[in-house]
Amino acid sequence: MSVSEDDARRLDQADPGHRELFHVPPATGGRYPEVAYFAGNSLGLQPKATRSELLEDLDAWAALGVEAHLEAKRPWLPYHELLTDLAARLVGGLPSETVVMNSLTVNLHLLMVSFYRPRPRRDRILVEDTTFPSDSYAVRSQARFHGLDPDVAVVRVPTDGIVDFLERQGESVALVLLGGVNYLTGELLDIPGITQLGKAKGAIVGWDLAHAAGNVVLRLHDWGVDFASWCSYKYLNAGPGALAGAFVHERHLSDPSLHRFEGWWSTDPAVRFEMAPVATPPPTVDAWQISNPPIFSMSPVRTSLEIFDRVGMPALRERSVRLTDFLEGLLAEREIVTPRDPARRGCQLSVRVRGGAGELSRRLRHEFGVIADTREPDILRLAPVPLYSSYHDCWRAAEALRQL
Ligand SMILES: *Cc1c(COP(=O)(O)O)cnc(C)c1O
Repeated sequence: MSVSEDDARRLDQADPGHRELFHVPPATGGRYPEVAYFAGNSLGLQPKATRSELLEDLDAWAALGVEAHLEAKRPWLPYHELLTDLAARLVGGLPSETVVMNSLTVNLHLLMVSFYRPRPRRDRILVEDTTFPSDSYAVRSQARFHGLDPDVAVVRVPTDGIVDFLERQGESVALVLLGGVNYLTGELLDIPGITQLGKAKGAIVGWDLAHAAGNVVLRLHDWGVDFASWCSYKYLNAGPGALAGAFVHERHLSDPSLHRFEGWWSTDPAVRFEMAPVATPPPTVDAWQISNPPIFSMSPVRTSLEIFDRVGMPALRERSVRLTDFLEGLLAEREIVTPRDPARRGCQLSVRVRGGAGELSRRLRHEFGVIADTREPDILRLAPVPLYSSYHDCWRAAEALRQL
């Protein structure tokens, strides 16, 4: 390798990121004290502020009991609103279009209740052929729920065939539901272009942004995206199973013809405690909320979103492009299945390996302290995360792969 360890360390001094805000796990193998963490696309690291801020919310319960709904430093009743502006700025939505609630696949189902309305000759759901299994199960079960055969209603198309399919058969599509950044290959799809084309063909266009939120710059409102959801435990560092985000475009927010599953949190907070038998949903995405939210699960999402808001996605993305470009250069000899153009990918590089990706990731961890994840049979996923990954981490990964 022509890049030395010292070169990598010098780059870290010049372009340091925000590693000091995170707990980086200690290494159990290799010659460095901390792991080189490349699995932030799977589970982001814990911000140091998460614990103390969560404890403050727990202490409010201890000190105030039920009165904490109104009297806590961060009152529970409107707690989710503390997250709304932060999440909206993260994904380029209006506050009225953005909410943190539930988990990702649950949100996709709730949104499909509203936005997958199959009709004769327009009943198909278009997904990418490498869609995440959970998304595949979700859309197939939605088709079945409507009495359709999922093998017919759900169409799986390679990502490079989506535009062509929409141009030729878009009139048969009720719903386009795609991953903004593909979980396997790291490819960033043309979200505005596909959204525009899908809408021109009369389809509803929704996005699963699990691998896009906190990874790439999003402008969901301006792009005219109908709906979207994303989880918060990958790039958003809010902890395992963290609450997800949801977006519904303004144009749908006061449409009385929309179907929606509702509960008491779907009703306007001003009249919620009138205990009326009929809900009065607000003209915001909050109307898609159902239950009173888990405050102690919202707390880590809030802490994390505040970090993103302080640093800003544009600046993060710039560092991300530099970092991934650096890693790509170090891996020049390998077969990278992720697009080479930075505009067509996020931070993740997916490398094809020979003979057992699982065994390789075990050795990377135990012999080198490098945490990467694999998708069998042959894909190694490396995600240098711009908030906390370093150039030295990239150097370590490339050096370990070279030695193995
Ligand atoms: C991570 C991921 C999920 C996970 O869904 P959960 O409901 O959070 O368990 C779903 N879809 C995609 C594309 C993902 O990357």
